[in-house]
Amino acid sequence: MKLRLRREMHWIRIDRYYSFVSEKESMTRENDIADADSTDKGEYKHWENVSVIHQPMMCQHCAQAPCETVCPVLATSHSSEGLNQMTYNRCIGTKYCGNNCPYKVRRFNWFRYNDNDKFDFHFNNPLGKMVINPDVTVRTRGVMEKCSFCVQRIQEAKLKVKREGGNMKNVQVETACQRACPSNAIVFGDLHNPDSDISKLHRNERAFSVLDELNVQSSVKYMTKIRNTETI
Ligand code: SF4
Repeated sequence: MKLRLRREMHWIRIDRYYSFVSEKESMTRENDIADADSTDKGEYKHWENVSVIHQPMMCQHCAQAPCETVCPVLATSHSSEGLNQMTYNRCIGTKYCGNNCPYKVRRFNWFRYNDNDKFDFHFNNPLGKMVINPDVTVRTRGVMEKCSFCVQRIQEAKLKVKREGGNMKNVQVETACQRACPSNAIVFGDLHNPDSDISKLHRNERAFSVLDELNVQSSVKYMTKIRNTETI
């Protein structure tokens, strides 16, 4: 297999966790305890019993964000709405924030993607540029990047409410990852509204925060996966 070493740039990664049923455990289940003593307890051989958990991992928009306190130029800060936001043109690329983020979700932008022949997928001309999302800030080389919770979509909704009237509580903002997920595994909403779907899910007993013991008070919660593993 050819190993590809490259700089990576993405704002959400899919972590995978594997669990196995050991041969001893499997045999115990089959009431074959006599043979179980001869097996290597540390070795897992029942590959057919592999279970996989997928965990999308992006910026958790921590209320006590460790990335914010280490930035010497305040390029990452907290918004009044609870977002951990980047001011790209203030960032000087120290990468301290990336080092201090316990979830490792920040990426350093090593390249100038726009108008770069190496990244020209028919985008580096006036017509091609019309395809690129005009609502997202164009970043340059040398800044730290991360998930913004699609702040441009939140802003668009706020402007719409301001123009047309109404209440933000009744507006459903969808993030790009949420819209792209075919199984509706991602839910986004207003945690200040106790009646919103996201608030109800946060109160669900299956909801948990990753690395909760660090007390960074992340805004993202995951639901424990429940599987019926009893053999029939
Ligand atoms: S997940 Fe990382 S980048 Fe996002 S707010 Fe928390 S510490 Fe900062």
